[in-house]
Amino acid sequence: MAVEQTLSIIKPDATRRNLTGAISARLEEAGLRIVGQKRIRLSREQAEAFYDVHKERPFYDSLCDFMTSGPVVVQVLEAENAVALNREVMGATNPADAAPRTIRADFAESLEANSVHGSDSPDNAAIEVAFFFSDGEIVG
Ligand code: ATP
Ligand code: MG
Repeated sequence: MAVEQTLSIIKPDATRRNLTGAISARLEEAGLRIVGQKRIRLSREQAEAFYDVHKERPFYDSLCDFMTSGPVVVQVLEAENAVALNREVMGATNPADAAPRTIRADFAESLEANSVHGSDSPDNAAIEVAFFFSDGEIVG
């Protein structure tokens, strides 16, 4: 297994409830190293571009509204098998389906306001990390 990087986003529902530290602790406890991190407010253009794959989905506009509704914390996570490991720690998209003790089971408010994002493949991780971070902002 290779050391990988993946992109994590702590979403506005979580920053609003002061859960940045609690969620980061879950990631670190699982062995994911936070090697890049910043708190930003997504512009509408950034949210639309980031979620472009979901453009045709009925929830796209609402998702972009939600993701621009407050600050987010974007993070680069590093570990062996980081993409799959982060998805495991996050839990299923819908918190009602998320396994016990996952971030979404414990913290998510709803299917949309589900507290975290994580890249779904190494190829998408590379694209998503580059969307938010320059090389000098990632310190391993
Ligand atoms: P993410 O991409 O945020 O890591 P995911 O890969 O588990 O989550 P996707 O299918 O990529 O889920 O959907 C992206 C995001 O869109 C979800 O995390 C959630 O916030 C929102 N979303 C997905 N499906 C729905 C839906 N049916 N209704 C409302 N929002 C949804
Ligand atoms: Mg996804």
